[in-house]
Amino acid sequence: MGNSMKGRWTYTFWKEVRVRLKGIWVEPSYYVTQILSGHGNFKEKLKSFGLVEEDKCKCGRKETTQHILEECDRWKEERAEFLKEKSSIHKYLISKEWFTNLVNFANKVMLKKEEEDLLEEDREDSD
Ligand SMILES: [Zn+2]
Repeated sequence: MGNSMKGRWTYTFWKEVRVRLKGIWVEPSYYVTQILSGHGNFKEKLKSFGLVEEDKCKCGRKETTQHILEECDRWKEERAEFLKEKSSIHKYLISKEWFTNLVNFANKVMLKKEEEDLLEEDREDSD
């Protein structure tokens, strides 16, 4: 995906999600909402609000929604269960099964991320 697409993808995606979710599928969880909307616990977003100084993921690359969902090696294991190959993000909206996979991934990964961030804060406090 080129850089020009990156700013737009979340908006387009979220707009479509909201339409598709109307009544047909599972309730979006707290975590999947963060991923779908792009408004959540992502360094790039937090930095844009001035909440953190670094927008880097622990792996060294910029931590965006898409990075976590499709790129970051830290979540390879979790991703392997449902994302065998890179393809359009829209595939998660094609069926309830795919969307459920996305919800499961989001719940697992975002929870782990939260726990890691808390541990990091603890370590910083004790220094
Ligand atoms: Zn990463």
